[in-house]
Amino acid sequence: MANSSSLMVTGSVALDTLETPFGSSSEVLGGSASHFALTASHFVPVQMVGVVGTDFPDEHLALFRDRGIDVTYLAVEEGETFRWHGRYEGPMGEAETLEVQLNVHENFSPSFGDDPPSPDVLFLGNISPGFQREVLEGLGDRPGIVAADTMKLWIETQRQELTDVLSDIDLFFLNWEEALLLGDSDSTLKAAQNIREEGPSIVVVKKGEHGAIAFSENQTFAVPGYPLEEERDPTGAGDTFAGGVMSVLSRENELTPELLRIGLVLGTVTGSFAVESFGPGGMKNLTAEKLRDRVENYFEVSGLDERLRNRLWEMLPE
Ligand code: AMP
Repeated sequence: MANSSSLMVTGSVALDTLETPFGSSSEVLGGSASHFALTASHFVPVQMVGVVGTDFPDEHLALFRDRGIDVTYLAVEEGETFRWHGRYEGPMGEAETLEVQLNVHENFSPSFGDDPPSPDVLFLGNISPGFQREVLEGLGDRPGIVAADTMKLWIETQRQELTDVLSDIDLFFLNWEEALLLGDSDSTLKAAQNIREEGPSIVVVKKGEHGAIAFSENQTFAVPGYPLEEERDPTGAGDTFAGGVMSVLSRENELTPELLRIGLVLGTVTGSFAVESFGPGGMKNLTAEKLRDRVENYFEVSGLDERLRNRLWEMLPE
């Protein structure tokens, strides 16, 4: 990890209740920032900004600390933690949100004190765009690379605030359906172009098991999904994907076309572990050996350039 720049993430830190065809579980660790940070912690040092309530189990805080995640800016406020109740039916793609309770997030503003941090790379995970902006503006210096993610709820209810965030970021991640909605087109390419016109020079469209496509000014680059026998719970796959991508960019502290490609590969591989188990189980139980095996398989399946494989190989934990 010696070369890494500093990576900061914000977003939701949640207790999730999940219903899938494979079973249900309640009050499991969730939230965009949690999934992202648990992933990135395998590759680079990561710092988390967010808030939980006094009901947030100590074991989850202990897990963050055990994984080396810096929780200095994870506030514990009187009240209840953010909660999300989601259901997946049929072929598992989009979750149906049955209930979302912002709880302590509702009136919380991030506070960095008199000497605010200046991370090199920032990921604004899925949370209200107003909160994303507050984090970005509260930092000492603007990070060299700023990326964000969002979801349908915020596109539908806080579009103007989201547009303001877009004008300040370099890289934007969103699901395919969300891209068409926000980009106001039935064509993925046109939707991505429309979103790029709002600010981010790169738009990454996530297509679940079908992989992901990155759109930038001079190139469009697609990576296939990793074929899996069983998808148990897609919750957090998007944040785990982004965690893989941003780990590569943070490790090298650069946003080049080649690093983006390598990032998309690592994101696809980490995302595949996320959907195989419930909640954050995939990233909690990831080992260097499992990761290396899957990266190797992925390059065989995808036929992607050997040079990318060799560069990524150097970045994997031993
Ligand atoms: P994903 O990677 O898109 O599957 O993200 C899943 C996580 O998003 C879950 O663990 C939820 O806790 C969290 N989540 C759901 N709804 C929201 C929301 N409106 N804002 C922020 N986070 C959310």
